Amino acid sequence: MHGGRIMLFYYHNEITFNCQYYRTENITNHPNPHCHTRVTSLRTARDFSCPHCHSRMYSYGAFSVLIKDFPDLPKQKKYIEFSGHRFRCTSCGETITEDIPCQCPFTRVTWDMALWIIHLLKCHTSISAISAMLSVHWSAIQKIQKHIINKALAAFETCLKKSNYRPRYLAVDEFAIHKGHRYATCVMDLETGFILWAGLGRSMADFEHFFKSIDLSLLSRLKAVAMDMNASFNRLFQKYCPKVPIVYDWYHMQAQFGRDVMGAVRLEEAQKHRQEAEALKKYTKETNNPELQKMAREKSHEERKLYTELKKSRWILLKKDDHLNERQKTHLLDILSEHRDLAICYAMKQEMTRLFTLTDYEEALAGWTKWIQAGLESGIPALVKFARQKQKRIKGLAAHALYPINTGKLEGFNNKIKVLKRIGYGYRNMDYFFTLIRFNSLPVDYSSPKIP
Ligand SMILES: [Zn+2]
Repeated sequence: MHGGRIMLFYYHNEITFNCQYYRTENITNHPNPHCHTRVTSLRTARDFSCPHCHSRMYSYGAFSVLIKDFPDLPKQKKYIEFSGHRFRCTSCGETITEDIPCQCPFTRVTWDMALWIIHLLKCHTSISAISAMLSVHWSAIQKIQKHIINKALAAFETCLKKSNYRPRYLAVDEFAIHKGHRYATCVMDLETGFILWAGLGRSMADFEHFFKSIDLSLLSRLKAVAMDMNASFNRLFQKYCPKVPIVYDWYHMQAQFGRDVMGAVRLEEAQKHRQEAEALKKYTKETNNPELQKMAREKSHEERKLYTELKKSRWILLKKDDHLNERQKTHLLDILSEHRDLAICYAMKQEMTRLFTLTDYEEALAGWTKWIQAGLESGIPALVKFARQKQKRIKGLAAHALYPINTGKLEGFNNKIKVLKRIGYGYRNMDYFFTLIRFNSLPVDYSSPKIP
C-alpha cells in the first residue's frame, strides 16, 4: 500500500501461454535473486525422424537445463528452465537430443544475453566488468566471443575465396605487447584494411610463419609491400615473392633520422658548449687578473646559454619549417648559422623530405644515390653511420616514387590493438588475441553479430 493506493509494478505480472511447440510458464520480472521462466517442450517423437535413416523415433528420456537470460533489473539472475526430450531411432538406434530454442551454442546463455555481451565487448568493456555486471563467468564470455568471431572470420574468408581475392598492396609492421618485452607482427591489406595475418615475435623465423600459413598464390597479384626499414621482413619477401618491390616507410625513416642523426649531433654540439663553459669557469678560479676573470665569466655564461638553447631546440629542428612561426624561424636560423654540423644535417633532412615527394623512379634513384653519397662524405659520424645503413636499401627508398604507399594505416590500426590489449584479452591466450585483432579489422557487415 502506498498513499492509500496499491502500487502495481510490471514485474508483479505473471503470464503463462502456449506458443508453437512450447509452453511457457511463470514469466515474471520479480527482482528476486532468482527469477525463473519455465519453458516446456510439447514436441513428441512424431515431430522427429532419424537424421540418418529417416525412420521413426521414440522418446526415451527427458532433460532439463537452466539457461541464463539477460536480466531486466540490476543484480537479478534470470533463468530460463528448459525441459525437453531425448529420442532414439526405431531402426538404427541413433539418438538425438531436442535442440534448445534461444540458446547461444556451446554456452548456457540465451542469444539475447550473447548479443549484449558482444555489443558490450565492442564498446571496449572489459571481460571482468561484463562478468560482474551480468554474473556470467569470464570463460563463458570468451567462448561466446570466440564462437561469433570464428563464424564472422570464416564467413569473410569464404567470401574472399569466392571473389578470388588477391591483395595488391600490403603493409607489414611490428607492435609491442607486454609493455615492450614481446613483439608481434601484423600484415595488412592496405586497400581493404583487413589484417591478413598476426603472429608473435618480430624475427625472420617468426615472420616466416606468415608465408607458411597462407597459400602463396594469394600473393600472385601483389604489386608492392610497405614496411619499416629496421626489421628483416624484406629478406623474406625477396625469398617468397622476389619480383614484388619493397617500399620503405617514409615516416619511420624520418623518425629514425630525427632520433639517430639530428638528436645525436645536437647533443654533441650542446655537450661541446657545456665543456667550454666548465673550462672557462675553472679558468676564472685559477687566474688572478680581474679583467681576464670578468671576460672568462661572461664567455662562460654565454656558452651555458647556448647549451640550454640547444637542449631546448629539439622540436624546432624536427618540425617542418612551414609549421614554424616567425620567432621560431629566426631562432632556427641562429642555431644553424652557429653550428655547421647541425646545418648540414638539417639540409639533409629537408632534401630527404623532397625526395619522398618525387614521382619519377629514375629521378628518385639518382636523388637517393646523391643523398647517400653526401651523407657518407659528410664526416659527421652519426650521419655517415645512417647513410651506410641505408645504402643497401636504396631501391626500396626510390620505389616510393612508383608506389607512394606507407604503413600509416597499419600504424593507425595499432592504436586499436592497444585498446584491445588494455582491456585485457590475450594475456591468457595469445592465439585468441591475434584472432581478435583480425576480427576487429573486418568490415562492419561481418563484425556485427546477427541472430541466426
Ligand atoms: Zn535411424
